[in-house]
Amino acid sequence: MSATQHRKLRTGRTVWQSIPVARVPERRLRRDLACDVVVIGAGISGALIAERLTEDGLDVVMVDRRGPLAGSTTASTALLQYELDLPLCRLARRIGPARAERLWRRSKLALDALDERLHRLGLDADCVHRSSLYLQGDVLDVEGLREEASARRHAGFEVSFLTRGQVRDAYGIKGRAALLSHGGMAADPRKLASGFLRAALARGARLYAPVEATGIDPLVSGAVVHTAGGPSLRARAVVFATGYEMPKGVPRMGHRVTSTWALATRPQPRAAWRDEVMISEASDPYLYLRVGPQGRILCGGEDEAFIDQETRDALIPQKIAALQEKLVRLLPQVRPEADYAWAGSFGASPTGSPSIGAVPGMRNCFAALGYGGNGITFSMLSAQVLSAAIGGRDDPDADLFSFRRKF
Ligand SMILES: Cc1cc2nc3c(=O)[nH]c(=O)nc-3n(C[C@H](O)[C@H](O)[C@H](O)COP(=O)(O)OP(=O)(O)OC[C@H]3O[C@@H](n4cnc5c(N)ncnc54)[C@H](O)[C@@H]3O)c2cc1C
Repeated sequence: MSATQHRKLRTGRTVWQSIPVARVPERRLRRDLACDVVVIGAGISGALIAERLTEDGLDVVMVDRRGPLAGSTTASTALLQYELDLPLCRLARRIGPARAERLWRRSKLALDALDERLHRLGLDADCVHRSSLYLQGDVLDVEGLREEASARRHAGFEVSFLTRGQVRDAYGIKGRAALLSHGGMAADPRKLASGFLRAALARGARLYAPVEATGIDPLVSGAVVHTAGGPSLRARAVVFATGYEMPKGVPRMGHRVTSTWALATRPQPRAAWRDEVMISEASDPYLYLRVGPQGRILCGGEDEAFIDQETRDALIPQKIAALQEKLVRLLPQVRPEADYAWAGSFGASPTGSPSIGAVPGMRNCFAALGYGGNGITFSMLSAQVLSAAIGGRDDPDADLFSFRRKF
């Protein structure tokens, strides 16, 4: 029995697994413990949440059934962007322009906050600032991109519309108009998570692994987390930061787990394209790419709605070939041979936005379901929203992510 679903989160060797990362010390759980907050999950979400809560002065215990950095975070291609999966003009039609604009702005603030915290803590995580190029596709054509540009400008974002000729001249990509936006980043996701986990541990947080949370008993003034090994953890609050292994009893809010594929090419013999902008398509299924470690191109997409892990894994050769073909069609000068290929669980939500906050019907329990292409940005957002919720403070945007919202 477990408090969350069980999944094979990823298959294949990711490019990050060949890059050394600072070890995150973990302990064995041998006896019952008490603390302020138990965080279940030691990926990037748990790391950012724990770091933030320890800054608030709280005594934090983390548990993970696998160990730190052993979940989906290691599979991430780590394009750190504020642009939600659903274009702003489409989101506005769905939930109203005012809410849509607030969501997009808060996503940008969360990304800026991540950047600022990296600086403040002196973490590197191979983080670089990158602009983003959003190419026309079957979701947004040229007119759609123009509409999206004006929706973003109305919300206060800096964005340029580039004609097909401008995209061809600047990036060598033919037949596509695009939006160019700024303020994104790229990083090594394991170094990112390791850095924040170590910062939380340095402030006194404790990390126990492997520890499976099997069930939660909410209390009037806290909750007890039961674990597979026997000891239990008593806390004022419990946070589920369990990624795509959905916590049981937490409303899904339309979030669904899907399958995705990614590759890292061999190091490219020459600079791949101007300014190493992060490229994505307004298409379904989409393609996205960025320059990664040692001048390799990281490229992913081809998402499918199914979650059957055997089918997902069997499709790796076929999906990687499809990604390579698309890559070369887009950028003929690129060498598409892959040194790394992997598949993983992925998540999506109808609005491209996360669900974060108190879990209805589970007193003193909170969850961060940060699904979507901006998963890591949403991990930072979760840290901000949950810090306020657990600390009894107001977050002006909590209603946008609440498990009680009606949109
Ligand atoms: C191929 C791929 C590409 C991606 N690209 C991007 C990208 O470019 N940009 C971006 O922002 N996001 C991207 N994402 C999404 C991003 O990686 C995820 O949103 C993020 O890693 C999720 O982090 P997490 O900490 O929530 O989950 P995880 O890293 O999976 O951590 C959750 C942890 O919870 C633990 N756990 C679960 N249940 C229990 C339990 N009952 N008891 C104890 N422990 C438990 C698990 O063992 C796991 O270690 C990508 C994802 C994939 C798969």
